Amino acid sequence: TAAASSASSLQSVRVVLRVRPLLPSEASSAAAPCVSLVGTRPGGEVTVQLKDQHTSRNECYKVDSYFGKDDQVSDIFDQEVSALIPAIFEGTNATVFAYGATGSGKTYTMQGSEDLPGLIPLSVSTVLARCTGTWCSVEISYYEVYLERCYDLLEPKAKEIMALDDKDGNLQLKGLAWVPVRSMEEFQEVYSIGVQRRKVAHTGLNDVSSRSHAVLSIRISNDTVKGKLNLIDLAGNEDNRRTYNEGIRLQESSKINSSLFALSNVISALKKNEPRVPYRESKLTRILQDSLGGNSRAVMVACLNPVEYQEAVQTLSLAARSG
Ligand code: ADP
Ligand code: MG
Repeated sequence: TAAASSASSLQSVRVVLRVRPLLPSEASSAAAPCVSLVGTRPGGEVTVQLKDQHTSRNECYKVDSYFGKDDQVSDIFDQEVSALIPAIFEGTNATVFAYGATGSGKTYTMQGSEDLPGLIPLSVSTVLARCTGTWCSVEISYYEVYLERCYDLLEPKAKEIMALDDKDGNLQLKGLAWVPVRSMEEFQEVYSIGVQRRKVAHTGLNDVSSRSHAVLSIRISNDTVKGKLNLIDLAGNEDNRRTYNEGIRLQESSKINSSLFALSNVISALKKNEPRVPYRESKLTRILQDSLGGNSRAVMVACLNPVEYQEAVQTLSLAARSG
């Protein structure tokens, strides 16, 4: 019912599942989708089953909502993200994460393309529309967290920024650029430079973008309130044992996995209303401490490639509850 779904949308953390369609290159393979929807409760939890077509192993997980191959990014925006925007205008902070293995659709969901804008441009345009004709300023920042270090993607050469404790024990990114944007044109101009920098920032290392967390934040302020929405394209949660990582790759993977593990521990503590939330275990959770927990709200979009059973298990075992 409408009442039940609006109540559930006030949870402090929602875990939503997005299963992307098969890509043209995958459609010809004999692989059968490993994810199926087995039950829904109106306005409530959804149970999905993962099944390995080779071994018939299977397990079930519970998530707060499910988006399948026919659902668009705009559906996820309308149902899960748009409600966060009025909240930031009341001074609440909020965070949306895309979580999953490389190739599962995280960047497609967050960034999108010119034809199908992702959650980032959809959020910015909704925020800007709400500010039209008011004394409200909108600023964005965009940075990357790679091997527990932060790099400003809106500064030339993706300058490293120091994360320092302030007197209240919160971590502040010293000197992070906050760029005012007044229109979608201005936003696209700034953002596309950052996106480009993310691709080339780490010369000599391949594909750092899938192994770093990219955080786009939208900050609004007027006379009386400040609020912030963080939209995060997380590093891919690859399994080391499967990819046989060595050397720098192994060191990277273990840092990525430990920071994703730290994040999932924070989310699970918040979901269970535990009194102690372990923010201090990673850079990302320390930076996000002001936007996770308390009155803040978060949406975790767990992205799945429909034909990768092991990956799906890996993703859901960190993001969802078994059920
Ligand atoms: P990730 O960022 O998780 O590594 P991408 O977002 O780059 O994954 O997606 C991998 C590929 O799948 C890309 O070619 C992307 O265009 C495609 N893709 C992802 N999600 C969808 C979707 N919902 N519909 C159609 N194509 C998708
Ligand atoms: Mg990506």
